[in-house]
Amino acid sequence: MSSAPRPRPKILAISPYVGGESQLPGANRTIKLSSNEGPFGAPPGARAAYAALAPKMHLYPDGHATELRRAIGGRFGLDPECIVCGAGSDDLIYQLTLAYSGPGTEILMSAHGFSIYPIAAQLAGAQTVKAQECDLTADVDAMLAKVSPATRIVFLANPNNPTGSMLPADEVARLRAGLPPEVLLVLDAAYAEYVERPDYDPGIALVRAGDNTVMTRTFSKMFGMGGMRLGWVFAPPAVVDVLNRVRAPFNVNAAAQAAGIAALAEPGWLEKGRAHNREWRGRLAAALAASGIKVWPSEGNFLLADFSTRSRACAADAALRARGIIVRGTAGYGLPQCLRISIGTAEECQAVAEALAAFTAREAADA
Ligand SMILES: *Cc1c(COP(=O)(O)O)cnc(C)c1O
Repeated sequence: MSSAPRPRPKILAISPYVGGESQLPGANRTIKLSSNEGPFGAPPGARAAYAALAPKMHLYPDGHATELRRAIGGRFGLDPECIVCGAGSDDLIYQLTLAYSGPGTEILMSAHGFSIYPIAAQLAGAQTVKAQECDLTADVDAMLAKVSPATRIVFLANPNNPTGSMLPADEVARLRAGLPPEVLLVLDAAYAEYVERPDYDPGIALVRAGDNTVMTRTFSKMFGMGGMRLGWVFAPPAVVDVLNRVRAPFNVNAAAQAAGIAALAEPGWLEKGRAHNREWRGRLAAALAASGIKVWPSEGNFLLADFSTRSRACAADAALRARGIIVRGTAGYGLPQCLRISIGTAEECQAVAEALAAFTAREAADA
């Protein structure tokens, strides 16, 4: 037997997270619509703050991200003492999972929920239990039916990635009310900034109402800072205390802190992003529908196009790639018949619409 170091047995059973691809070999222009990164890049003020930090690169960051937490609290009307920042919200999802689950316990999620949760659970040694969805939407009754004495965390991405579906505030409250109080409910609101439905709440009210619900948020989507790795969680004091014990002491780098503060202060950024997303999500959905492609309703900055079969989704993906367009296959989410398409610039959305119109026209001609 080899004497090389070996990880705990369950570790090698983890399938690494597969991110959206970014390169197409041979294509002279690539349109990357595979990671929901937003069409505008980072806010100009955030880029300037990032650049301005270069001379201070040798200094450790504030390990408590005090100014950043103050800025987040100010922007969203939250107590900074109830906020913990992370290297992306993934960091916080990992720390919560490691701290609150473990061997012999279960985490619960919906069937097509975000794929980081089971990876974090495997690292922690916990089992992942998935509840059926209804019309690609989390089903509160199905989730409650899967709760067992071993359940420690329930994850709900709201809106969900990759389906785009959303649960209204009263349904999320019903989920919380039906869970045992000792189960931690993690509301992953990565797309909260895009949601315009009046019956939505990202989770703030539920976090405030008790000691067993947290809300995670990210700078990777609406704020266009995926490369900086910055996220945050709004949580009751006891959970904040736990996270501050288990997280890496300098988990958020100095540039991310400075850029995040500037991004929050960028005038009109949210309004511009929301308006663009509303317009082009609607236009792209209509264009795909006009080409006979089913599109699921989405509250996020992406659409889930449904091609009915895996082979047709693969053919559509190939047609997009032939035009330099990369979208996200969702077979890993149990949706091999679908492709997730991020809302890009107007031109990018038009390129997708044209490519898929040509694809369905060729299908019709071949039939
Ligand atoms: C993109 C995304 C995240 C955010 O990830 P970061 O680590 O903050 O970049 C979290 N949850 C969901 C559902 C997402 O789609």
